[in-house]
Parts: sequence; structure tokens; C-alpha cells
Amino acid sequence: MGSFSGFIDGKPIMAMGRPWSIINPATEQVCRTITLCEASDVDQAVAAARRALPGYAHWSVGQRIKLLSRIFERCTERADEFVELIVTEIGAPIEYARSTHLPYSLEHFEEMIEVLADYPFASKLKHARIIREPIGVCGLITPWNWPLGQVVAKAALALAAGCTMVIKPSEWSPSCATLFAEICAECGLPAGVLNVVHGNGEGVGAALAAHPDVDMISFTGSTRAGIEVAKLAATTVKRVAQELGGKSPSIMLSDADLDKFVPITVLKCFENAGQACQAPTLLFVSKEQRERAVRLACEAAERIVIGDPRSPTTQMGPVVNERQFSNIQRMIQDGVGEGATLACGGAGRPPGQRNGYFVRPTIFADVSPAMRIAKDEIFGPVLCILTYETEEEAIRIASATKYGLAAYIQTASPQRASSLARRLGAGRVYFNFAPGGRSIPFGGYKQSGNGREHGIFGLEQYLEVKAVCGLPD
Ligand code: NAD
Repeated sequence: MGSFSGFIDGKPIMAMGRPWSIINPATEQVCRTITLCEASDVDQAVAAARRALPGYAHWSVGQRIKLLSRIFERCTERADEFVELIVTEIGAPIEYARSTHLPYSLEHFEEMIEVLADYPFASKLKHARIIREPIGVCGLITPWNWPLGQVVAKAALALAAGCTMVIKPSEWSPSCATLFAEICAECGLPAGVLNVVHGNGEGVGAALAAHPDVDMISFTGSTRAGIEVAKLAATTVKRVAQELGGKSPSIMLSDADLDKFVPITVLKCFENAGQACQAPTLLFVSKEQRERAVRLACEAAERIVIGDPRSPTTQMGPVVNERQFSNIQRMIQDGVGEGATLACGGAGRPPGQRNGYFVRPTIFADVSPAMRIAKDEIFGPVLCILTYETEEEAIRIASATKYGLAAYIQTASPQRASSLARRLGAGRVYFNFAPGGRSIPFGGYKQSGNGREHGIFGLEQYLEVKAVCGLPD
């Protein structure tokens, strides 16, 4: 795969914008240089998507299923190339990239193939025919933490719906999107249906969000940028889907199995080096559980193997870039400064790591809800343990964050879990770390977003609803 600036109208392109070096976060060395697109490239990509729309929108469901199956098969055949890009551009451990990034990305194709088989694109409501049509040209803006998954979670659904699209992947991990576009073209996707433009958020992302010929923006990233995108999109009344930040609680009720669920909370919190939007970053334990929970959490953190992402035994690699590394260091220092107990880890690199953006798995205990580490998303391997006196207090504090992506409840009682689940403002509630799955809606309450991705709920984001009244049966 070449170092292209994107993919427009069926062809890789070399834009005329400024050069951009992609840094391998494990080595701090440049692994690839591209030139970034500019607003004029966005215009070209949107025009290509607009030209391709009437043709592609009329593909039959059967044709779309065949296409999605071909793309899924070909991506699976070229899995090693995606793994290589994920390892070099975000520093994900190779085994984790292979066993988690890959399958949890490509599963959206499998899901769409199943959903399309009997999705009611046309139905009846009283005297009207209800028709669901592709919304049109979609702008898909994605973050760096899941470089293939974030792209596929949008593109597979938009393709299933019959939309055409311009993808703007994160400038920090752009290459999976280019490879994906090449594969789609190889599989017979007509030119212009799926375009990719590489560039920064303020220039290229903003141009796409504001573009008058884009019908919908699906954005995943920080709440800050999500708000900017929504403002830009508002001037042309686009549909906006937002998947934003998170600060998810893991609540241990009095009857929870701490030996089992504290280590799971730690591993989930530190997955992908803590760069996962629905990571359980706030662990709530009762006063009675506090000592044992802190000990179990630190033991679990200290067992994590950190190091070279290319080693098959590595469980945690570096964070994505220098900016992310510095933000996390600042947050760790803030936690210490605000008086939280540093139970393990801390500022600086893990012992033995001289370079690379490696962060020590860090656990704070005795965190109070007013502390910055309890309120703001850190997006790194930092777990905050809060102690509650009553379950009411735990629910009140867990509900007080501005985010609402996920919540995790641990208890031996499904009844207690069920009543608590109703009271937590989160798009997903996991009882004893039950799996989610590709069909289950994913998205946030409050400032974690608007809309739902994955499965049928995700597909419907890319569809418009038309009611035709007065036609005979
Ligand atoms: P980010 O907001 O900095 O960037 C995300 C994308 O938006 C990138 O492609 C970026 O170039 C673009 N962008 C930035 N500013 C923009 C602007 N003004 N206009 C248009 N586009 C702009 O986020 P990030 O650092 O790449 O990713 C981390 C964030 O993403 C975290 O907050 C995390 O919680 C969130 N995230 C959320 C989900 C979810 O599903 N809810 C999933 C993954 C990541």
C-alpha cells in the first residue's frame, strides 16, 4: 500500500497539502509520510460521492449483500496488512490487534449481511406506504483509537443502506482507511461510492462537516470536536450522529464477587492502553470493600505485561502520540496534587522503557467526585477508585458525570442489577461484564453522543423515511 493522501473516485490520490509524518508510538520514529488533503480535495471527494449516489442507491438488496460479503472476505484475507498498520500507527499489541481489533471491526459486515436479508425497506402504516431510502452522501469522521473498527462501523452500515460516502479518518492512524478503500474498489464497488480524505480536523474535518452537498455526518471522537462538528453541520440542516467521550462507572454492589470483577474492571479499563471510549474508568466500592478492592486492583495492574507491541506476550503498548502521553501525565500529576491516594503506577514511563509513549498503569484510590481525574475523560490507563457509604450515594455520583456511554454493575442479584440499570443514564449497561455484541445498539446518553451505531439501530441512522399516502394496496 502506498503512502497516499486518500482515495477519490476509485483512485488513490496524492494531495498538494502539507506533509504529515505518522509516528510509530512505540519507537517515536516516522513510519510513513503523507501529504494532507485540503478543502478543495474535500470538494472533489464530495462531488464524486454525489455523482455515484443515484447509481448505487438503486442497487438491489441482493447486490448489496453480495458486495458486503466480497469486501468482508477480502478484508479477512488481507488481515495481516491491517494488523501491521494498527500495530505501527497506534502501538496496539500484535496479538490484541489480531484477536480483537480485526474481528470486532469486520463483524459489522457479517451483521449487515444478516440484517439486510430481511430488513423491511418498504412497509405499510394505515393508508400509507413507508419507504426507507438511503439518506444520501455521508461524511464519516473517525478517531484514531480503533483505526479499522471505527471506519467499518460506519462504512459497512452506510454501504448497506445504499449511501455514498467520504471518510475522514484520524490523521494519527489514517492508513487502515486507505487500505480499506483499495479493497472495496478491488471488490467491485463503483468509483465514487467510498472516498477517503486524509487531513486534520480543523481543516478537512470541518470542511466536510460544513459541506452543503453532504446529507449526513457521522462523527466519532471527543465531545469537544463533536460539538464543533454539530455546529458546522447545523447551517445546512444535516443529520448528525455523534459518538463521543465517556467516563463509565463500574459499580460493585455489596454482594459482588470482588476477586472476579475487580481484576476484570482493571483489564477493561486498561484495554487498548486505556484508549477505549466505554472503558470502566471509575470503580465504585463500598467502605467495607475498599481495602480488598484496592489490593486486587493493584495486583491485576502489576501483572499486565507492557512493552514492544510486536512481542506476542505484550498486553499493553504505548498510547498513540506525544500529545496523548503528555495529557495523561498531566492528569496523573493532577490526581496526586488533588490528594487522591496513588495506589500503583504514577507519572513517567514504566521501568525499563526509555522511549516510546508508554504510560504506567495507574490506580488512584480515595478519589472524590470533585477531583478532575473523576470528572474528565483521561483516555489512558488510569483507574479511579471511589468509595461509597450507601448504594444511593454510588448511583448519585455515578450519574453526576456529564457522560453516559456505558455503565457496569456487579452483583449476584439480577433483580438489583435490573432496577439499578434503569436508574443509570448510559447507552449500554453491562451486568457482571456480560458481552455486548455486534447487533446491540451502541451510543451515548448526555454528552456521550446522539444516535446509536451497530446493527439495525445503526443502519437506520443512514436511512430517510418517506411516507407515500393514497396509493392503492
Ligand atoms: P478527536 O475529537 O480529537 O478527533 C476525532 C476525529 O475528529 C479526527 O478525525 C479529527 O481529525 C476530527 N476532528 C477534530 N476536530 C475537528 C473539527 N473541529 N471538525 C471536524 N473534525 C474534527 O478525538 P480523538 O483524539 O481522535 O479520539 C479520542 C476521543 O474519541 C475520546 O474522547 C473518545 O472517548 C472518543 N471516542 C468515542 C467513541 C464512541 O463510540 N463514543 C469511540 C472511540 C473514541
